[in-house]
Amino acid sequence: MSGIEQFETAAMADARRAMEVCNACRYCEGFCAVFPAMELRRDFAAADLSYLANLCHNCKGCYYACQYAPPHEFGINVAQSFAQLRQESYATHAWPAFLSKAFARNGLVTSMAMAGGIAIVFLLTLVLQSPNAVFGKLPVQPADGFYLIIPKAVMTLTGFASGLFALLAMCMGLASYWKASGPRGWTLKDFYQALKDAASLRYLGGNGHGCNDKDGSFSTARRRLHHLMAYGFLLCFAATCAGAFEDLILGWSAPYPLMSLPVLLGLFGGFGIILGCTGLLWMKLQADQEPSARELLSADVGLLLLLLLIAASGLLLLGLRGTEAQGVALCVHLGLVLAFFLTMPYSKFVHGIYRFVALLRHAAEQRRAV
Ligand code: SF4
Ligand code: SF4
Repeated sequence: MSGIEQFETAAMADARRAMEVCNACRYCEGFCAVFPAMELRRDFAAADLSYLANLCHNCKGCYYACQYAPPHEFGINVAQSFAQLRQESYATHAWPAFLSKAFARNGLVTSMAMAGGIAIVFLLTLVLQSPNAVFGKLPVQPADGFYLIIPKAVMTLTGFASGLFALLAMCMGLASYWKASGPRGWTLKDFYQALKDAASLRYLGGNGHGCNDKDGSFSTARRRLHHLMAYGFLLCFAATCAGAFEDLILGWSAPYPLMSLPVLLGLFGGFGIILGCTGLLWMKLQADQEPSARELLSADVGLLLLLLLIAASGLLLLGLRGTEAQGVALCVHLGLVLAFFLTMPYSKFVHGIYRFVALLRHAAEQRRAV
């Protein structure tokens, strides 16, 4: 049992009722991982529902196939119930607990963090350097190019402190969720299976025909766009690590040459994020909202927009090197990155962690069930 008390919420009661109907019906049993997991249960405790909700990848297939979906009096809408429950699970396990409220107003929190992050970086730069550093023209490749705009100590300390905070908060959330709804008795083979399913977005492929991304029709667009965004993000993370290595270990300061590892990784990663996030945003706004949880739309849009702006401002910074706009572009880009680190544990970003834990539990359960 988790140390966290899970109160019965309306979403939980609704999901339990849906699972009881589905467990009798079982029409959707081949649709996704949720239904085989559901069939192993007769009762649906809060921790089980939280697990099933995070196992759901929101393909909406069961909504369009369901004879009991609204306007039927049963009003079964598993996709919507689980979307609400997922959001509740992120808030339940958030650390520190008082920041869990950020999940309820995610769009607003992200917007405020973006404005605050940019303002903080501008203020620090203006106070610690001079307006000339921000608005003046700097050479393209000086030994300490970017550090003439933002001092090295400030850039390094702010980056490490906000990054470590995000990592700690997400690890605490992971530990709490694992205790409540994580796998029991898993093996390395299960871990490998979960990793394979997560890395390939296996379930977003449906059974080959994709998911109901927009409406009742099938498409693999969401899977492809999610791949672009996720692998673009990983390339940008690798670019940051390569940059940190060159700076802190080799003593080579940014900005790096165009044909260097940090720039090339960031370039490809940035384009991946821009294409992926733009496509996903467009799909979100076009999609039928009936099987979605409307109140969660701002959280989805907020994270996609933030990632898109970070990638776009990073590429803009590259294009503006050596110009008078370089200082402003650097402050805006780093302000957005700061906002991302600070909101990361309280945004849709955490779905990757919860989903991986659910996939691992599913792999272990299915192995034992055969
Ligand atoms: S979603 Fe509807 S059709 Fe599918 S298993 Fe549940 S009750 Fe049956
Ligand atoms: S929305 Fe898709 S993934 Fe979620 S329970 Fe329904 S069929 Fe499964």
